[in-house]
Amino acid sequence: TPVLLWLRQDLRLHDHPALVAATQEGPVIPVYILDDDAPGDWAIGGAQRWWLHHSLEAFAKSLDKKGSRLVLRRGDAVSTLRSLMTETGAERVFATRQYEPWWRKAEDALGDAICLHDGNQLARVESVTTGAGGQFRVYSSFWKALSQMMPPPEPVAMPRKIDAPETWPESDALESWKLLPTKPDWSGGFSDWRPGEDAARKAVARFADVADDYDHDRNIPSTEGTSRLSPHLHFGEISPRQVWHAVSGHGDGVTTFRKEVAWRDFTQGVVLALPDYGRRNGRPAFDALPWRTGKAAASDLKAWQTGRTGYPIVDAGMRQLWATGWMHNRVRMITASFLVKHLLLDWREGERWFWDCLVDADYGNNSVNWQWVAGTGVDSNMFGRIMAPLSQSEKFDAGDYIRQWVPELAGVAGDAIHDPDESGCRPRDYPAKIIGHREARERALEAGRHAR
Ligand code: FAD
Repeated sequence: TPVLLWLRQDLRLHDHPALVAATQEGPVIPVYILDDDAPGDWAIGGAQRWWLHHSLEAFAKSLDKKGSRLVLRRGDAVSTLRSLMTETGAERVFATRQYEPWWRKAEDALGDAICLHDGNQLARVESVTTGAGGQFRVYSSFWKALSQMMPPPEPVAMPRKIDAPETWPESDALESWKLLPTKPDWSGGFSDWRPGEDAARKAVARFADVADDYDHDRNIPSTEGTSRLSPHLHFGEISPRQVWHAVSGHGDGVTTFRKEVAWRDFTQGVVLALPDYGRRNGRPAFDALPWRTGKAAASDLKAWQTGRTGYPIVDAGMRQLWATGWMHNRVRMITASFLVKHLLLDWREGERWFWDCLVDADYGNNSVNWQWVAGTGVDSNMFGRIMAPLSQSEKFDAGDYIRQWVPELAGVAGDAIHDPDESGCRPRDYPAKIIGHREARERALEAGRHAR
């Protein structure tokens, strides 16, 4: 009898323990189910639909080469799997463990039929625990524990053969899912991305050559100092174990990079312990924060989303996000802090926008990082720590980055670029600051007092 291989965020053939185990059991029916209901508010966002389309296309081709196929279905994942089991006679479903609450619920609902394997983290999330046996709430202690368990096991080899069933169940046509934007097609700026496993493997090999410089370069938004592996890692086109082993050496760059990759594991532990983390403050005291609402707040939110706040570094980041589906990590921190502290808008508004715009949007990574910057999270208490966007811009040498993403400012030379308002060279088509830094700071600190 055949077995089902249920694919979610593991669209790869290499280092795929669930796939290997499935092939040892019998003929394999690989299936991807587009389930827009179970995740609720976290149904796959616009930018990721673009990525998913191309990633599924690439993955189906790789399966073809192995004499296999990718079956596509749309609907509730659990009932779709159950009906596929009836259709095909399969009794078991192989899958890679996921930590999003809706996926854990689906896994539970499948009971004994599902056979879960690790593969999307450096270590099994449940195995990295505090002395008391719970998940870590603070990254530094988490890293201390995880690093004791490293290096991770060597990646497992791709199966040489994937046996096909005698008959294949019907599959949707990928095009019928209409994942790609049409009118307007906003994905023009996505052309540098190459979704799929082959591209992911090339990207990690390319980065391995410059990983030594990561420690310094990762904070400079105008250079390509980071790996840009995040969407590949999110969709599981490459595993974190492959990434870990691909960068070698003991230099600071490699160590810092591996520590960043470990953040992914940490965030999955947080959402395992606190499944509602995407909508609930990690510290309930912050439920009392007087977030701004109403017309002026809505207009400020729009200015932030469209990159028209009058703060060049913020605007550059938000426009890079819209154009390419990705934003540099340093600038993610600056723009997120600006929304929450300077504009006093609920971090959940930012989480929503990022969810829809990022090609790497990830439930754990997005909510944990938003709450970390906002200071509402379990691992931080930093509401009073307010990033100064203008000095951050200078410190991390963001001039060329701004010129690239904010064309109105392309002609502003030298350091005036960081604060064209103040230096008196703001072009007429670029907005004035929507709020002064000092005023915003005072307002945020006052709001923070309510949360004590
Ligand atoms: P690199 O610096 O090359 O890092 C390598 C890998 O490590 C990344 O691909 C990523 O998988 C992981 N990583 C690095 N930093 C973090 C981090 N702080 N938290 C978790 N994983 C990390 N990352 C996402 O993958 N999805 C998100 O939805 C997401 N939302 C974010 C929201 C905010 C407000 C902030 C401040 C950060 C967010 N990040 C998110 C984390 C980080 O910004 C991105 O992972 C990183 O910018 C991706 O670029 P890279 O692949 O070049 O990273």
